[in-house]
Amino acid sequence: MTDAVARLAEVRANIAKAEKEAGRPAGAVTLVAVSKTFDADAIRPVIAAGQRVFGENRVQEATAKWPALKQETPGIELRLIGPLQSNKAKEAVALFDVIETVDREKIAAELAKESGKQGRAPRLYVQVNTGLEPQKAGIDPREAAAFVARCRDVHGLSIEGLMCIPPADENPGPHFALLEKLAREAGVEKLSMGMSGDYETAVRFGATGVRVGSAIFGSR
Ligand SMILES: *Cc1c(COP(=O)(O)O)cnc(C)c1O
Repeated sequence: MTDAVARLAEVRANIAKAEKEAGRPAGAVTLVAVSKTFDADAIRPVIAAGQRVFGENRVQEATAKWPALKQETPGIELRLIGPLQSNKAKEAVALFDVIETVDREKIAAELAKESGKQGRAPRLYVQVNTGLEPQKAGIDPREAAAFVARCRDVHGLSIEGLMCIPPADENPGPHFALLEKLAREAGVEKLSMGMSGDYETAVRFGATGVRVGSAIFGSR
């Protein structure tokens, strides 16, 4: 067993325990294994151990390693969790099954156009900048519900959930609670929140997906 496979089992057990403690059904939370910076040889054992949902933060890096891995193992779900530039929308729609970082009108328009052209519609999340950090991507929380509505009404895109990355130096709980409230206001069901340091907290606050990298693959 590789270290990553042992750590995967540990993370899975921690999620199951947190679900139980929060009174949530077993399996309510999807584990997204964040494989950015790790190569195919590091990822294969984790796939062999049964993990099927993976996250990458760069379109180019993902395009270099995932088409082959997807071909080797049917049923992989690949999620884009990093910022999307509009000139990469074409590649992103072709490769990713879920795009979690829709955060502006221009990207929504490009994704709608590419989905139409390619006949392929990745599931979509809107990223919310819950800490209003100037250097961070994501829509202003005060505009989240209206933006979700515009994605639907103007661009014909159905938004499945919201995603956030709380400020690194703050207690994440209030940010998770805010995302949950915004999702209710926007009428969307899924919540992508929680990383290696705080995924159990996120499960308590209602996360439906946690994005865990270093706790599985090791430090980057
Ligand atoms: C890298 C990354 C993660 C995983 O971070 P870890 O702390 O290694 O678990 C989660 N979400 C996003 C958006 C990331 O870029």
